[in-house]
This record gives sequence, C-alpha cells and structure tokens, in this order.
Amino acid sequence: MTNSIELTGISKSYGNLTALGKVDLTVKRNEILTLLGPSGCGKTTLMRIIAGFEEPTTGKVMIDGKDSTALAPEHRPVNMVFQKYALFPHLDVFDNVAFGLRLKKKPKDEIKREVNKALELVQLESFKSRWISELSGGQAQRVALARALVNRPAVLLLDEPLAALDLKIRHHMLNEIKRIHEETSTTFVYVTHDQDEAMILSDRVVLLNKGGIEQIGGPQEMYWSPRTLFAAKFFGDTNIVNGTYGVSGVVELPFGRYAHTAKSGVGAGPVNVSIRPETIGLEPALGATLADGAFAGKVKDTSFIGNRVIYRVEVAGGTLDLKCQQLPTPGSHALPPGTNVALTCKPESFVVIPA
Ligand code: ATP
Repeated sequence: MTNSIELTGISKSYGNLTALGKVDLTVKRNEILTLLGPSGCGKTTLMRIIAGFEEPTTGKVMIDGKDSTALAPEHRPVNMVFQKYALFPHLDVFDNVAFGLRLKKKPKDEIKREVNKALELVQLESFKSRWISELSGGQAQRVALARALVNRPAVLLLDEPLAALDLKIRHHMLNEIKRIHEETSTTFVYVTHDQDEAMILSDRVVLLNKGGIEQIGGPQEMYWSPRTLFAAKFFGDTNIVNGTYGVSGVVELPFGRYAHTAKSGVGAGPVNVSIRPETIGLEPALGATLADGAFAGKVKDTSFIGNRVIYRVEVAGGTLDLKCQQLPTPGSHALPPGTNVALTCKPESFVVIPA
C-alpha cells in the first residue's frame, strides 16, 4: 500500500457557506504534502477532516487503507500539531510529552523510554523538567512535535506550526521538521499560507483556492508551470503581462514579439503571460541603439536585498511596470532610479495562460 490518505468527494458546508467543494486527494506514504492557499480557502477544514475533528458533509476518508470517515480522532493513526502548540502549562516538558501514552495506560518503563526517545529526536533531552512557561517559542514547538510523535502516528498533521515564530527561528525549525521527517517513517501533512515554507518543505504542494484544488505538484513544477493565473500569482513572485497568442506560436507583448509554443489548450487570442522576475535580463543602456531582441526601460525603483537586487522598471506601453531580479556581483552597486536600461526576456520561460 503506497497511499497513506485517500480523500474522495470531500465537501464541507457550514449552513450556506461551502468551505470545501468536492475534493479528491491522495497523500502518498512518507511524503511531506503541503496544503497551501490564502486565508479562508479551506486548508484547516481539510486538515480537521483528516484528523476527525470535523465531519465532512459528503465524501470518504481512507487512512492507511481503512475507511475512517466515521472514526473518532483518537481511533485514527493521526496526530496533530497546532499553531498555538496547545501544551499543558501545569505540566513540565516530560509530562507534556508523556500525556498521550499515559492516557493509553502504557507501562511506566515504556513511557520513560519513548518520551526520552521523542525528546532526543527534537533535541530537548536536557529540558525534561522545565515548565512550559520557561521555554522559547521554538522550544515549545519542539515539545508539541515530540508530544505528537511519541504516539508514533502514521500521519502527522501540522497546522501552521511555525506561524507564531519569528523568521530566523522559522527557517531553522523548517530544517528541523525536515530532519525529523527523515528520521521517522511518518507521512506529514502541513498547512501553511506561506509559499516559501511550502517550497522549502514539500515533496508535493496542494494549492487550494475557494474550497477547491487549484493545482497539485512538486514545488519546481508549481513554480515553472502554473496552470492558472491564480497559481502563477500565488506561488512565487511574477509579472503578469497582457498579450496576444497567435496560432503560429508567437506571443505578442507590448514590448516585443516572441516565438513561444504555449502548452496544449491555449488557443489564439488574448492571454496573460507570466514572466518570472529573475528571467528578465537587465543592463544599463549605453548607446542610443539596443541590441537585437532587447527593449528599452527606465528604472523606477531599486531595492538592494544583499543577495539580490529587485528593480521596478517602466517599459513600453507607458504604464507597464516590470519587476526584474538580478544577482549582484561582489562590490557592485545597484542601478539608481532614472537609469535607462536594456531588457531581455527568455520566451522559453513564459507561461501563457488564456485571458
Ligand atoms: P486560514 O489560513 O485563515 O486559517 P483556512 O484556509 O484554514 O484559512 P478554513 O479555516 O478551512 O480556512 O475556513 C474555510 C472557510 O470555512 C472560511 O470561510 C471560514 O470562515 C469557514 N469556516 C471554518 N470553520 C467554520 C465554522 N466552524 N463555522 C462556520 N464557518 C466556518
């Protein structure tokens, strides 16, 4: 059996509100699958349906090959880590982690062994007797992870577990979560609205929009081959340029004509073209004439971010404004606003989406 979770025809309504339409989704064994999407798109609802905290209005939930639709949360091989940790403040770290095993009335020596193992996994062996109030946010989240993993769930559900942490700790914890995933044979389903987290962590990303699945794929596939305008805009930074696609395989944009064969399903007519900022070349325009294939622009705004420089550039069409991203060479200075530049595009990286 290679699938950990199979959801078929899952929908959820609250009165007149449809939180989830008909969702079909398969989660493979041992993968990290991310549910990504804007606020209110149904990520948490889907997660809670897998956990058993929420009953679907229609559909079937299979976990580990077993129909679990009507099973109570405690009877599913699933544990959940919450955004706000939900730790017990009146218990120390050891007792927080031991809680589930004590409920299951496991023998004392087994509890001790398993809790120690779980604390070792999250690198908190020396924090056993600390109170929860004496922990940093990152440490508290590790306790929450240990408390879930000590039950050796087949599936670990993580609902925005890093949302309360600051950026640096979040990046560190992402790597920790990856390491913990490698060291345990567990399927991880991770909810986030942060596309960077989804990209760093996921084997596959499920992009949700208004209660439905917009696209599923690996991070690189999602980034380079978004199928819809929503997916192109939500997953990574991009420029959306209005243009026209001709059947002869030519994309006409306000600043040039490019040979490009769009994917099947795109007919001749008006299109939106997604152009990733880092695929646009930018050079100072030195002479009056531009090289073949280049088009003119003027820098409007420059943001130096250390490892890259982001330019906003005004180009033909008057009001059209492109974002370009350049890697700085050591010691170089970013071009200031007002600089005339020559831009080039790589039409092979265009994503043409019917308008
Ligand atoms: P966020 O990122 O803001 O947490 P989300 O993608 O997790 O959002 P859900 O919490 O799944 O979104 O909510 C999906 C929709 O269902 C929202 O419109 C929300 O208001 C609604 N909803 C969720 N729970 C309930 C409830 N118990 N009663 C009524 N409506 C609900």
